[in-house]
Amino acid sequence: MKIIKSDLHAIAVGPKQYPQDELPEIAFAGRSNVGKSSFINSMLNRVNLARTSGKPGKTRTINFYIINDEFRFVDLPGYGYAQVSKTEKEKWGHIIEEYLKNRKNLKEIALIVDIRHEPTSQDVMMYNWIKSFGYSGIVIATKADKISKGQWQKNIKQIRNKLGVESSNLILPYSSEKKINVEKTWEIFEEILDL
Ligand code: GDP
Repeated sequence: MKIIKSDLHAIAVGPKQYPQDELPEIAFAGRSNVGKSSFINSMLNRVNLARTSGKPGKTRTINFYIINDEFRFVDLPGYGYAQVSKTEKEKWGHIIEEYLKNRKNLKEIALIVDIRHEPTSQDVMMYNWIKSFGYSGIVIATKADKISKGQWQKNIKQIRNKLGVESSNLILPYSSEKKINVEKTWEIFEEILDL
């Protein structure tokens, strides 16, 4: 994939702020700090387009990135903050649900997990949610550079079992740091986006 340009298109907490056009979208979900921003930046060859975590007060927003004026990446707010109140969690759920339920532009949702760890119960919930909205739910196991290649399959199997991913669905090892499987991921996305 040749990225000619990539820009922040919109920041939304509700449908009124979503871009109003027909461009197809792929959305990304994952717990905070899993490496979602790094994933987006590495795919787009940008250092700092997607916000990176660790900033206190990081807001719960849906961020839309427009690529080559042709399609969008949609960064959903991360989950799993320990210190978050019940009201905040409900707000998070509402923001995401509204987007997943009614967004015609949305073609697929990718769940980003950490290849080193068993998925959390929230990952399982998110994955089930994705499936319940009728998406196939691509799973990207990032930070693959942090374990040896020989360990990948064992960990992928554990992730597959925990999330209940069907054997026909691919779970892709990925590394933003070492740019592992960037091209492979683009091939999958190009097919989804019909590019
Ligand atoms: P987000 O909260 O999901 O957006 O997570 P970030 O993208 O901000 O990443 C969280 C931390 O993990 C940062 O310190 C990143 O540098 C690190 N990180 C993200 N992806 C990778 C990766 O593929 N390999 C390694 N080694 N570190 C990564």
